[in-house]
Amino acid sequence: MSALILDGTKIAQDIRSEVAADVKSISAAGVRPGLAVVLAGHNPASEIYVRGKVKACEEVGVYSEKLTPAESSTTDELLQLIGELNQREEIDGILVQLPLPPQVDAKKVLMAVHPAKDVDGFHPVNVGFLSTQRPGLVPCTPGGVMEILKRSKIPVAGREAVVVGRSDIVGKPAAMLLTNANATVTICHSKTHDLPGVCRRADILVAAIGKAGMITRDFVKPGATVIDVGMNNLTDPAEFQSFFAGNAKREEAFRKKGSTLIGDVHPEVAEVAGALTPVPGGVGPLTIAMLMFNTLKACKMRRGSRVVELSRV
Ligand code: NAP
Repeated sequence: MSALILDGTKIAQDIRSEVAADVKSISAAGVRPGLAVVLAGHNPASEIYVRGKVKACEEVGVYSEKLTPAESSTTDELLQLIGELNQREEIDGILVQLPLPPQVDAKKVLMAVHPAKDVDGFHPVNVGFLSTQRPGLVPCTPGGVMEILKRSKIPVAGREAVVVGRSDIVGKPAAMLLTNANATVTICHSKTHDLPGVCRRADILVAAIGKAGMITRDFVKPGATVIDVGMNNLTDPAEFQSFFAGNAKREEAFRKKGSTLIGDVHPEVAEVAGALTPVPGGVGPLTIAMLMFNTLKACKMRRGSRVVELSRV
C-alpha cells in the first residue's frame, strides 16, 4: 500500500485564491488589508523569508510595507516602531521577523505587538483565545495543518491524534487546535517514554521535531494520516543515501544542489501511512498562505463594522 500524498502546494494555492477574491471585494469597498513586516538587521535567511511574504502580499492584493531597522537597533527603538505600527489604521498585521539582533529583547518586542494585529498568533492573548475557543489569530503553521486535514476530508473528531513536539509556535497550538476539533490528543516530547508505542496509537500523527527522518515505519499505525511539519536541510551524502538511495529524482537534485530538504518523517513511512504530507510541498506552503489569511482576518475583525458599512455603499 502506498500513502495518499496530501498536496500542500495545491491547498495553499486554493487558500491564496480565496483570500485574493475576498481582498478584492473589500478593497473595492475602500478597505485594503495591510501587513507590516519588520526585518531588523541583515540575516540572509530572514531576507529570503521576508521577500516571500512581501511577494505573497502582492499576489493576493494585500498592501505590504517592509521596515528595515538597523542591525544596531535597541529594544527601545523597536518598541517605538511597533508602537507606531499599532496606531496606524491601515496596518492590520505586524510581523516581526525572527531572529532579532542579539542585543534586542525579542520577547518584549513580540509582546508589544497589539494582539489584534498579531498575525503570527504568538501573543499570549491570542494563545488564550485559542485555548478558550474564542475568535482570535491562530499561528500560521498549525493553522495550515488543520486546513490540510479539513480540505483533504480527513475526519478529526473522536480520533486519536498524537503531536510530537511541544514548541509554542507549532506543537502546542497544533495540539490545541486538534483538541478544539474534538480529537483525543497526546503531546509527546524529548522525555516521552516509548515514543514509537505512543505514536502507533495515532490515527493522526503530527511530527514537529526538527530531526531528519526520525519518524520511521515503527512509529506509524497502518493507514494513519501523517502530517510532517519538519524542515531539515540534508547536506551529508551518506545521510542522504540512507534516506533516498534509489530515488533518481532526489539523487539528481542533490547532485546539482548539494543539499535537499527532508521532513521529520522517514520516506519509508509512505509504505505504511494512509495519507502523508510530502516535504517539500506539504505543510511548508501553507505557512505563508495562512499568513495572508490571518492578515485578512485581522482586517475583518478590527475594521469589521467599517468593512460591512462600506460594502453596503
Ligand atoms: P523546536 O522549538 O525545536 O521544538 C522541537 C520539539 O521537538 C520540542 O518540543 C522537543 O522536545 C521535541 N523533540 C526533539 N527531539 C525529540 C525526540 N528525540 N523525541 C521526541 N521529541 C523530540 O522546533 P519547532 O520550532 O517546533 O519546529 C519543529 C520542526 O518544524 C522544525 O524542523 C522546523 O524547521 C519545522 N517548522 C516548519 C514550519 C513550516 O512552515 N513548515 C514552520 C515552523 C517550523 P522538548 O520540548 O522536550 O525539547
